[in-house]
Amino acid sequence: MSPSPVARAEIVVDLAVIRHNVATLRRAVDPEGAGTVRMMTVVKADGYGHGMVESAAAAREAGAEWLGVATVDEAMALRAAGDTGRVLCWLAVPGEGYADPVAADVDVTAATLPVLGEIAEAAHHLQRTARVQLKIDTGLSRGGATAADWPDLVAEAARLEERGLVRVTGIWSHFACSDEPDHPANDAQEEAFRHALDVAAAAGLRPEVRHLANSAGALLRPSSRFDLVRCGLASYGLDPAPGHTADLGLVPAMTVRATLALVKPIAAGAGVSYGHTWIAPQPTTVGLVPAGYGDGVPRHASNTAETWVGGKRRPVRGRICMDQFVVDLEGDQAEAGDEVVLFGIGRDGEPTAQDWAEACGTISYEIVTRIGGRFVRRHVQPDRGAEDPE
Ligand SMILES: *Cc1c(COP(=O)(O)O)cnc(C)c1O
Repeated sequence: MSPSPVARAEIVVDLAVIRHNVATLRRAVDPEGAGTVRMMTVVKADGYGHGMVESAAAAREAGAEWLGVATVDEAMALRAAGDTGRVLCWLAVPGEGYADPVAADVDVTAATLPVLGEIAEAAHHLQRTARVQLKIDTGLSRGGATAADWPDLVAEAARLEERGLVRVTGIWSHFACSDEPDHPANDAQEEAFRHALDVAAAAGLRPEVRHLANSAGALLRPSSRFDLVRCGLASYGLDPAPGHTADLGLVPAMTVRATLALVKPIAAGAGVSYGHTWIAPQPTTVGLVPAGYGDGVPRHASNTAETWVGGKRRPVRGRICMDQFVVDLEGDQAEAGDEVVLFGIGRDGEPTAQDWAEACGTISYEIVTRIGGRFVRRHVQPDRGAEDPE
């Protein structure tokens, strides 16, 4: 047996934890097990950095009826990987073409007449019925049809449905402030959504799924669950609304770790890293972490975030560089080759993605989604003893 190679810097994703989180979320949104609230696990942006295909498979195993992605390419990548279940995508530009997703039975989103027309044309060419979900803007002012355009959109969709070119499988919208449960926009958006559903019903549409809630909406606002919830962040075990969500037992699935490249003493007064933004107030030892902003370690973490070495929190000293950064070992025993955890589950006291987000003035979504670069991602399933290196 050859010794396992030392990992310079790796992202370890626990798929058993993703399965646990998805199953936990399903129970949380459907406490009676009535089966009326279905689960869409959102796996866009490479599964928020966790690996899209692997995360999607884990979510399916845990019972996710739907997968959600942003782009057509992402949806097609799921199909190419063998996923045959319901998949919704929601972001395309004019002329991108709907032949592939329509042929692959992917649900596509329309919010304007021209897009609906493009989808119907693709269906006509393929001689099949496109699965279309209509999106209404209820107050995010991002994607979605305006309330003024909605009646025309649903009327045209109903005509296309009669011609057999499309089947309107869903009607949906997206919250602006669901991480602030008391924000008045939430009530306003839900009311606007109910009105849009009434308009669509009056036009004769009978969608399979009506949906509004992302993770925070699903957890904090039961009235917003409708037929389906779209859970992204919470599926990966991170808190979509820090300070508001009850502890459901969700567990972070991602651990980012590296091997210290070098440990050495520095003298009092030594400046550390570019610009000498940190000067050692007393003699100390520092460890060199072989990952930097080229790998998605945020430069905003300079002098603010903490890591974990030898069972203790170790502050980042000086600036995060492109390939490396320095942590303060404060004279403790440590040597090159020791493990450094940037962030992980947090169970033993190690920092979490949420800690890094707070240190950087951002959200945990951005921390996990941007980490990558030269990190090697590895999926583990400790309950099955299997490992799939990429
Ligand atoms: C990303 C996204 C989601 C998932 O949001 P989370 O806050 O991660 O649960 C849901 N719906 C849409 C439209 C999205 O773009």
